[in-house]
Formats: sequence, C-alpha cells, structure tokens
Amino acid sequence: MVSRCNLFDYMVDVVKGEMPGPIGMFRVPDDKGAALEYIIEYALNNALLVNVYKTYKNLLVPRVEGEDRTSEIDVLMVSDKGIFVLESKNYAGLIFGCADQRQWTASLNRYTKERFYNPIMQNRAHVKAVAAYLELPEGMFRSYIVFGERCELKQVPENTEEYHICQRRRLIKTLRRDFRKRRTVLESDGLKDVMQRLDELAAGSSREARQTHIEQVQAAMRTCPKCGKPLLERHRKSDGGLFIGCSGFPACRYIRDRW
Ligand SMILES: [Zn+2]
Repeated sequence: MVSRCNLFDYMVDVVKGEMPGPIGMFRVPDDKGAALEYIIEYALNNALLVNVYKTYKNLLVPRVEGEDRTSEIDVLMVSDKGIFVLESKNYAGLIFGCADQRQWTASLNRYTKERFYNPIMQNRAHVKAVAAYLELPEGMFRSYIVFGERCELKQVPENTEEYHICQRRRLIKTLRRDFRKRRTVLESDGLKDVMQRLDELAAGSSREARQTHIEQVQAAMRTCPKCGKPLLERHRKSDGGLFIGCSGFPACRYIRDRW
C-alpha cells in the first residue's frame, strides 16, 4: 500500500493522526474508493480536531422532491461550526472541471480520460437532502470535495462559501483553518438533536436500504443522462472497441467509455 518514495509522507501522516499506523492499515478496505472514505473518517476522528463531535460514513439520506433517488453521503461530520458533508473522489490523473460544467475530466494521458459528474453539483444534492431531513438551513452546511493522492487538481474552481475542494493530505489543515474562521452555529442542545436524528438515519442505512440504493444507481447508470432512453453496449467501426451509446442514436449522440 505504501511505496518507498512516500514512506516519509506516510509516517508524518501517522504521527499527525491522519493515517492509521502500520497495523491499523490492515483494516483499510482493499477497494480504493472505500479506502479513501475510511482514511478521511479516520483522520477526522484521530487528528485531534476539537470541533468534531461525531462522524458518519456511507449515510443514506431519503430523497427530496425533484431528485429521483436517495443520496449516499461518503462522510458526514458534525461540528459546532456546522455540518460538513464530504464527498470523496478517488480518480487518478489530472483533474479538470468548472463549477457550472456537468462533466469533469480525470485525464491519465492523451488517450485515457475518464468523465465524471461534477462533484460540486453531486454534493450540493447531498447537502440539500440532509438539510431537508434535519430541517436546518443549507447555510449551516459545508460541502467538501476530497480527492485522493493519485491525482493532481490541475484546473478546479476556487473555493467558495458553499464548497471547498482539496486533496486528502490537505484536508485536516484546511478544516482547522475553516473552523477558526467560522462562528459557532450549533450549541449543546442543537448538537444533541442533530446527532440523534443522524443516528436514526445511520441505523436505517441498513443492508436492505443499501440494496435499493445500489439498484437505483445501477438503473440510472443504464439510462441516458441526456434523453432518458436506455444505454447500450456498442462496438466502434474503426477498431471494434467497446463503448456505451444511447439507444436514441442518431437523435441522441450521448456516448461514454464504459458502464
Ligand atoms: Zn440519449
């Protein structure tokens, strides 16, 4: 998991409580996406952030009007300075994206690019859903988009009052600065209420609810985001390579590289 060249960085992170020690590393999931979520939550709980009251991982939030499915929040952190909703992104390569662009790109090289849904928009929907569930104003929430170490944030939007984009290694430092800047918005009773409601939600994030969520996501993945028609596997004429195209072709020309 840890190569020689970044062993020093790793040891620094362990000392700061931002990464599990060598034995704790055995508990980190093999799946890279799940590993990033695990490490983010680990750091929030172990880096001695005095403002952090409780963290939740993989929280399923009921759908709100206008959304067609439940939201799954990677990591949610309750603090006296607000509720922080973290979306982890484990893409490799150079990351490009604008605030108002629907698709962002992770570019490994000239030929290998991966497109993904704008994480600011994605996490905005998460914040909306959890704010509605907790019946709190969206202004009490902070959206954090946390990328892993395998990428470089080549061209991403400037941070705003609503969202913050950073890489995992800068997360704790960024949060400390954010906590210092922000006023207290949740006192003891408010904190207790919020945590109680989130505990109920976490208890409901059961295997059954998770299965329904996975089915919804899979169904959405097999539907064209442009026109809503089913997507199909197709072969390129030039080299026979596989790609995913819209069954509404030629009226709709939506394609992507894989499911
Ligand atoms: Zn289509």
